[in-house]
Amino acid sequence: MFNLRQLPYDKNAFNGEFISDRTIDYHYSKHHQTYVNNLNNLIKGGEFENKSLYEIVMNAKGGIFNNAAQIYNHDFYWDCISPKKTDISNELKSAIDRDFGSFDKFKEAFLSQATSLFGSGWCWVVLNADNKLEIVQTTNADTPPTKNNVPILVVDVWEHAYYIDYKNLRAKYLEEFFNHINWLFVSIAYEWAIKEGMGSVKFYMNDIHKEQI
Ligand code: MN
Repeated sequence: MFNLRQLPYDKNAFNGEFISDRTIDYHYSKHHQTYVNNLNNLIKGGEFENKSLYEIVMNAKGGIFNNAAQIYNHDFYWDCISPKKTDISNELKSAIDRDFGSFDKFKEAFLSQATSLFGSGWCWVVLNADNKLEIVQTTNADTPPTKNNVPILVVDVWEHAYYIDYKNLRAKYLEEFFNHINWLFVSIAYEWAIKEGMGSVKFYMNDIHKEQI
């Protein structure tokens, strides 16, 4: 049985500067919790009942996949933001310069792809199979690991992520998201992506959801 992960900060940690405790209350305590409850109900008595989150995300289809992937996508999203300012590693900074031309060009490309994603979904930075950083959009619950891309950063652009605080102004939410990226976490995700590839995704998912394995 899966549990809702703990948040790495208090619900009011971003109050007044990014997302409110009311947004986190709905997004984490209701939406994220619902994916956990749904997955637990859907796997009961079936082939995925005692499988790890990684095995479910990589192998399931339909509702089981959707709810499992949304658990991971949200687990990862909460880790990608921080109320405290954090520093990017030199290694990640160099990789961004190499693959996007400069940090400013990366920021522009990431915000533009996140803003233009049609409907509900996620905008990611992944380490692809060629060991290059790449920006990818996924819709609904879709998640990069199923295509063997290793996530290092994600932003949730489902309306439930920003509507309470920003209404229809997705671009404004994204600007503030960018100002609150947890570069320490993203830099470590990059370091492990380089070292372990998909193994780092498996470790991340199953370490957060030890209760199931
Ligand atoms: Mn969400």
